[in-house]
Amino acid sequence: MNDCIFCKIVKGEIPCSKIYEDSNVLAFLDIKPINPGHTLVIPKKHFINVFDSAEEDWSSVMKAVRTVSFAVKKAVDADGLNIMSNNGINAGQVVMHAHTHIIPRLKDDCLKLWPGKDYREGEMDKIKHKIVSFLKE
Ligand code: 5GP
Ligand code: ZN
Repeated sequence: MNDCIFCKIVKGEIPCSKIYEDSNVLAFLDIKPINPGHTLVIPKKHFINVFDSAEEDWSSVMKAVRTVSFAVKKAVDADGLNIMSNNGINAGQVVMHAHTHIIPRLKDDCLKLWPGKDYREGEMDKIKHKIVSFLKE
């Protein structure tokens, strides 16, 4: 994609702090980290997000995410990591080239990712059945 910022990074047209590369995947530091070491893992091939992905392409990214996670955790001496991807505008996706965030978490970093809501009476069971029915399609 010509106007995609992450495709430009893959092609070397925009610089990045490269962490890892294989034939399908590139990992580099996020320019605006939640914590130092915040890394993005992206497919070299342009697709938008999980809904636009082939299973093997998504799997390649997840394999690299696992590899890179160990190094990030050690490098910044993190207690743990959040591994997450925003899929769709309402999920917070800003860059429309698939990417997975590896976010180092430190004791007392005060980042609260999401507050949990309560289900209404019967709602949980209804949603469960609906999701399971779509899995059978
Ligand atoms: P999203 O909200 O789409 O999941 O996150 C996109 C991420 O890409 C953001 O965390 C943002 O800081 C990062 N980002 C956007 N443009 C660039 C860039 O040119 N270089 C790097 N390294 N990160 C970028
Ligand atoms: Zn792209």
